[in-house]
Amino acid sequence: MGKILVVIEPNQDASMQMFTVAKELGGETDAIVMNDCECVSILPCSTAYNFSMDMYLPLQATDAVAKAIEISGATTVLIAATQVGRDLAPRVAARCGGSLIGDCTTVSNESGSIQCTRPVYGGKFVATIQAGDGLNIITVRPNAFASTDETGSPTVQTIETNHDDRETISAVEESGTNEMGVADADVIVSGGRPMGSEENFASLYELAHLLGGTVGASRAAVDEGYQPVARQVGLTGTVVAPRLYIACGIDGAIQHLAGMRGSQVIVAINTNPDAPIFKVATYGCVIDLFELVPALTKQLQQSPQPA
Ligand SMILES: Cc1cc2nc3c(=O)[nH]c(=O)nc-3n(C[C@H](O)[C@H](O)[C@H](O)COP(=O)(O)OP(=O)(O)OC[C@H]3O[C@@H](n4cnc5c(N)ncnc54)[C@H](O)[C@@H]3O)c2cc1C
Repeated sequence: MGKILVVIEPNQDASMQMFTVAKELGGETDAIVMNDCECVSILPCSTAYNFSMDMYLPLQATDAVAKAIEISGATTVLIAATQVGRDLAPRVAARCGGSLIGDCTTVSNESGSIQCTRPVYGGKFVATIQAGDGLNIITVRPNAFASTDETGSPTVQTIETNHDDRETISAVEESGTNEMGVADADVIVSGGRPMGSEENFASLYELAHLLGGTVGASRAAVDEGYQPVARQVGLTGTVVAPRLYIACGIDGAIQHLAGMRGSQVIVAINTNPDAPIFKVATYGCVIDLFELVPALTKQLQQSPQPA
């Protein structure tokens, strides 16, 4: 196995998961951090490259990663398939003349060559892709691999990048909410189409906050405009793997399951005892969600909170 280069977005746990993939592949590993960041000196790798970039600028980031590939001699580049990663990976592949294998859910070393799998045709099939010789840029879905808390003491090397005048950030707008994102939540209470309105989702937020978590949604609920797309869980949304996932009025379509079946405990609340969600549920509740969610919330409000 040749040299591996892991691309790190600061404060992105999904990026740290790439070290687990690198370990699975078994090659010597370098990393590049997409910003100046204190974490660079303790990453579990041989050499850690960094460069200065206040916010993600695609051309500058591509330039930096291309330089790191050249200096390190990496033949495999691992990038988490976050929004930034999905933008960056094809640029790097085009710039360096490498192959792009996108959105993988498994990556393994099969007798010295890399084999990846990724869902295709809306999650109905899984494609196995054999990486070729030469440079491979691989993006891996967040939460497909566990993160690592291993640390190291790499040689730190700063890469000089040129700012490209074609890109500038003219304005940054806050999303207007401090609500935790689904990718990082330990507990997710998700709502489906029967939620019926954005207002009805307030009851899920109340329950989620009592449990220290946040709210997710099925694509049907997002398409209806009840929740923003950032809350969508599933194949075309975010893949999550929380400690607890409560699916409220979610049928369990294969595309939804693809995004949450890695959750440790799944509670399904559904009026239809034959709903597919029950096949993956740890606990199934055949009941109207508008009856159970308020009852659960009330029970939690009356329970003594842990100190
Ligand atoms: C290419 C492609 C990608 C997709 N990507 C995604 C994705 O990323 N995420 C995603 O979620 N979907 C995705 N979908 C859509 C997916 O196929 C389903 O259409 C969608 O997940 C259905 O959402 P739902 O379960 O909320 O709604 P429905 O299918 O309408 O199911 C509602 C469920 O709620 C139950 N119910 C109704 N009323 C109540 C009540 N009062 N209390 C309790 N239960 C009740 C019903 O029995 C039913 O099981 C994708 C589809 C395609 C083709």
